[in-house]
Amino acid sequence: MSEAESLFAPLRQAVGAEAAGALERLVREGEDHELNRISALDFAARSGLGEEAAIAAFLHAARLGLFEMSWNVLCPGCGGVLGASATLKSVDRAEYNCALCAAGYEPTLDEMVEVTFTVSQRVRRIAAHDPNALPMAEYARQVFWSSGVDLPENFAALIEEITLDAVELPPGEKAILSLQAPAEFLIVFDPVTHATQFLDVQGEPTRERQNLAFTIDKAHTPNETVALRPGPLRLAIDNRTDTRALPAVWIAGDKLHDLLGRRKPFLTAKRLLTNQSFRDLYRTDTLDVDQRLKITSLTFLFTDLKGSTELYDRVGDLVAFDLVRAHFRVLQEIVAAEAGAVVKTIGDAVMATFPTPDRALAAALRMREAMGRLNVERGREDLLLKIGIHEGPCLAVTLNERQDYFGQTVNIASRVQGLAGSQAIFATGAVVEHPPATKLLAETGMKPLVQRRALRGVADELTHAPMRAHRRLVQRQRRHSRRVARTWQAGARVSPAAAHACATRPRAIVRSFPSPRRRGPHG
Ligand SMILES: [Zn+2]
Repeated sequence: MSEAESLFAPLRQAVGAEAAGALERLVREGEDHELNRISALDFAARSGLGEEAAIAAFLHAARLGLFEMSWNVLCPGCGGVLGASATLKSVDRAEYNCALCAAGYEPTLDEMVEVTFTVSQRVRRIAAHDPNALPMAEYARQVFWSSGVDLPENFAALIEEITLDAVELPPGEKAILSLQAPAEFLIVFDPVTHATQFLDVQGEPTRERQNLAFTIDKAHTPNETVALRPGPLRLAIDNRTDTRALPAVWIAGDKLHDLLGRRKPFLTAKRLLTNQSFRDLYRTDTLDVDQRLKITSLTFLFTDLKGSTELYDRVGDLVAFDLVRAHFRVLQEIVAAEAGAVVKTIGDAVMATFPTPDRALAAALRMREAMGRLNVERGREDLLLKIGIHEGPCLAVTLNERQDYFGQTVNIASRVQGLAGSQAIFATGAVVEHPPATKLLAETGMKPLVQRRALRGVADELTHAPMRAHRRLVQRQRRHSRRVARTWQAGARVSPAAAHACATRPRAIVRSFPSPRRRGPHG
């Protein structure tokens, strides 16, 4: 039995024959580039495995040493990889700069960090294991661009079309490119070091030779755009690094812009942190103690058991213990099935996270049903859940040796749970107004009741509403939510650039979903 075969056996045990078989086929039959920086979401779509199954399969495979996991910081402007590492701990800069886009970005785990998987060298040797031997187009495709850029089938031909000239430059070497500069915006770019020079070629054509020096070093100094006239250009390139460089002169026209604008969903660090398999496998070693990473949007769900003290009194500690354990098990299964993860349990309460509000809402509805079934089995209403959901920005941190979350969104979610009555689901406006969540509610035929509520300890976010017969209370809160918006700088002569945009969205109307088993005062 080869080493790879001996590693696939425990993988089958961990994730089942179907998922393990799909990965084994990929390793055996896939082309080299298909085994480098694999997006688990792409693989899920291609193999027919569900996304959660594919993510779990790659996580277990990485744990077994079949694949290597990589956390890559992406440029939201061009989709290039600004930094890659085996651990999230290396995402430690307040800002990442992209030379190609001439822009800096504050990293967020939902928009700027992808997680990919590359086959391990001892399982199968692929070309990308030696990136310095990859030809230019393959280097750009496999190393420079992230899995979030939807590179077309004819990528190699396209790169050739937009490339005026290119040279492979060993460490410490110099080269001279002689070319005819067309009246276009040109970018001299090395995808290895990200060294960049913008050339704005316009005006009267000239016959005189224009000279330009382009130095490749690790300094990443931002270059001013150089104005040139159409005509002969002598470009002296100096590679002062200790790695091979691949400088090329690109035409920054529509073709390049279209290429950079092609996006597809990728496995984000946020999605992984809120995945139950990831939390189970990489329990404590995700973030450094002093690390705090921004997440633009995460959905928090808190549950608690109503009247657990009375329950313990009534049935005794032993029975209560088993019941509470059974309830935890069921909740954990539902959370995992809806792409979420249990962060912690506190007494009889659960704190869970989900990548999007609709998954949390779907989980909440299933939890309520499941508790109903357990109660029917026992012939008693022993397990009555109170559920609260809220979505918003937060920080991923390490607290008490556990990957946890910090911020007002977490506080609000917990307080919203505290408002929920027996068998009720309380969600804020941020959750129910999220379009997929609204759709889910419409499909289940459920109409949320709008209530205005004050949240203890959440200051300056409440407006008062008159109490009506059916207690119509609405809590209002405004939050600035910074969203990264991609904008191409106006006037096609300027390089692709990106900017942060500040969006204000009013939020948080607390909504409750009346229990199907009880009639509220409204009905
Ligand atoms: Zn960029």
